[in-house]
Amino acid sequence: MSQNIVVIGGGPAGIEASRRLRDLGYTPILIEKEPVLGGHLARWDRLFPDGVEARKVLEPMLADLDGIKYFTDTEVSSINRLKDTWVVKLSNGLSAQVRAVLLTTGFDLFKAEKKEEYGYGIYERVITNADLEDWFKSGAAPQFDDVKVIGFVHCVGSRDEKAGNRQCSKVCCVTAVKQACEIKERFPEATVYCFYMDLRMFGRKYEDLYLKAQKECGIRFVRGRVSEVSEDIDGHLFVKAEDTLFGKPLKIKMDMLVLMAGMAPAASTAELARMVNVLPGEDGFFLPHSLIDSPCTCAREGIFYAGTATGPKTIPETLSEAASAALAIDRYLKSPQK
Ligand SMILES: Cc1cc2nc3c(=O)[nH]c(=O)nc-3n(C[C@H](O)[C@H](O)[C@H](O)COP(=O)(O)OP(=O)(O)OC[C@H]3O[C@@H](n4cnc5c(N)ncnc54)[C@H](O)[C@@H]3O)c2cc1C
Ligand code: SF4
Repeated sequence: MSQNIVVIGGGPAGIEASRRLRDLGYTPILIEKEPVLGGHLARWDRLFPDGVEARKVLEPMLADLDGIKYFTDTEVSSINRLKDTWVVKLSNGLSAQVRAVLLTTGFDLFKAEKKEEYGYGIYERVITNADLEDWFKSGAAPQFDDVKVIGFVHCVGSRDEKAGNRQCSKVCCVTAVKQACEIKERFPEATVYCFYMDLRMFGRKYEDLYLKAQKECGIRFVRGRVSEVSEDIDGHLFVKAEDTLFGKPLKIKMDMLVLMAGMAPAASTAELARMVNVLPGEDGFFLPHSLIDSPCTCAREGIFYAGTATGPKTIPETLSEAASAALAIDRYLKSPQK
């Protein structure tokens, strides 16, 4: 007999887990607070490491939702334990009583305006990695008439105690290198800098992308933090940094600065954690039972996690965790009830 399972968050993790649960014979109820499914994947243009279009990953997923009840523009109003079930009330007035709830609420992009020294939200020519994806995706003409010198600033809101996040966001080094190459394709004459602390190019083919950036695209990698950004009367930027390899202060006039905003916990994490009575980790993300062998399970019975709700991940990692979560739920639902 088909059993309902509530999946909260309709990004790659929630969609993939719902499809897997459906294939296992369950009826997932997928809840998404935004008007469309797809999460951050719906915003990206081309994906690292090999430049595949994000829509080519997302569209087949969205075309395969038969057997999944999904609600967009919908949030969870309450979740309460009743005997061995969870009663989930939704903002659209519906409610469901289920044995398993999967939390796939993902991440929020770090709010770059919090790092005041970079001038995001103040200077027009300072944008974020996500803004640049919007720009690439829209195929629009450059928003500035002169793009000759461009800088990418790594670790914005990550590995930064003052910003409240000690952890590495994992995907932003490779995103910076990917975007730097893409900018060079659009503006072959431009000079492009990447200001980094460490380059964390850990995945398969990532090193190839880095070598391409150096050898084919001529990206200039500068080891050092940007300390200050200011604007001249024409709206161009002055970027101060220190090249820590050569021990040299730098001041460079730039036409555009791209901030690699990292992954922060989704805004709803704390509230959902309170509803199901679990403590998030000190980094604000949901904390699984074990980071090694049970990344999808939680201390509370019947609550499961997948994707970036438990910390930074790439899309392939997110999708395989979603598949694991579906199997963990299946095993839980088939185990004898206590
Ligand atoms: C700038 C940038 C570029 C990236 N590029 C790549 C790339 O090229 N290749 C790659 O492999 N990875 C890339 N990533 C990582 C990729 O975006 C993530 O791996 C992926 O989006 C994680 O999917 P998710 O479902 O866990 O989370 P999300 O994509 O964040 O989806 C979560 C969903 O849950 C919804 N939600 C949140 N709270 C609630 C709630 N309370 N109720 C209902 N719905 C809720 C959200 O609206 C969202 O739709 C990039 C990340 C960044 C920051
Ligand atoms: S992936 Fe790179 S840019 Fe992102 S936080 Fe880690 S070291 Fe910084």
